[in-house]
Amino acid sequence: MNRIILSFDYEIYFDGSNRLDSLIQNTDEILKSAKKSNSKLVFFIDIYYLIKLEEYGLSSHFDKLRNQILEMIDKGHEIQYHLHPHWINAQYNKDKDLWKYDQLEYSFTDIIKIYGKTFAYDKFNKGVNKMKEWFAYKPMAYRAGGLSIDQNQGELLELLIENKFEYDSSVMPGLYLQGKFIHIDHRSAPKKAIWNVDDTFLSESKTSSIDSSIKEIPVMTINKFDIPLSDRIMTSLKYRAISAISAKDDSILANIGRPFDLEINQSTYPISITFDKSKLADILLLKYFTKTYFKKNANIMCILSHPKSFLNQSFEVFNNYLNWIDKNRNKYIFSGFSDILKSEK
Ligand SMILES: [Zn+2]
Repeated sequence: MNRIILSFDYEIYFDGSNRLDSLIQNTDEILKSAKKSNSKLVFFIDIYYLIKLEEYGLSSHFDKLRNQILEMIDKGHEIQYHLHPHWINAQYNKDKDLWKYDQLEYSFTDIIKIYGKTFAYDKFNKGVNKMKEWFAYKPMAYRAGGLSIDQNQGELLELLIENKFEYDSSVMPGLYLQGKFIHIDHRSAPKKAIWNVDDTFLSESKTSSIDSSIKEIPVMTINKFDIPLSDRIMTSLKYRAISAISAKDDSILANIGRPFDLEINQSTYPISITFDKSKLADILLLKYFTKTYFKKNANIMCILSHPKSFLNQSFEVFNNYLNWIDKNRNKYIFSGFSDILKSEK
């Protein structure tokens, strides 16, 4: 059976605003779609945003998010740990209703470098404890905010093992981003669907035993050379044909808020499946990429999307994809990390 982890990073934009509308309403629609096709989803919760809301007594925001997260769990979805370290020291300006944070505190490595190991460990553990306290949920999978995971993350690995995590899902093979705050280079990552991790998330362990180690389930990417040229041409023609006849998107909920200027100098984005900003024609590609990915001997595929980034058309694409998987349930099944763990044992 081919297992698909349909994961969402549950978070707001980085623009310092407190606007939850697109997150709450889009997630609501996503949950409705999942219910219709009986699909299981995974939400990586940006837990430090909730911690800050509680700290500053912003209870109406906090309650909205907490209630929606409780609904996810109630409906049988999975929640996991997502950490955007810029929240850790964020300060709230009540008069302006704006958050202020230091962009240099972008990755967990930055926090360790600036504040030391003890401080960073305390903050990480607090996130885990809050998930237990608020949701009676013990996370087993981790995703670094902005996928900012690098070669030297032995400390993070130590923390994941200490907290009895089983999986990391922060690597996107082929991704390369270099900028003022961001240093991501996942070009050397294995082209595999799952691997055991030793001292770096970015390569497969040669020695460690399966019990003691964290496993990496990367965000799926496809090497464009795995797609035959004839298919590339056909798909691109069909794609253009559908794009030409489909209506313009009139979404007002997506794109509220702008990401802060990440000042990226160099970037390579690999081919991947996402529902973010997807338009009608994308359904063609998403199905094609799904088939192609599983042809490469993989039987696990992790998809990454963001509720905040759905356009109106993205919901149609999403529904269509869920129904397609449902119709092909002899081949594909949506799974959480707990299902993967069970299937491995
Ligand atoms: Zn994120």
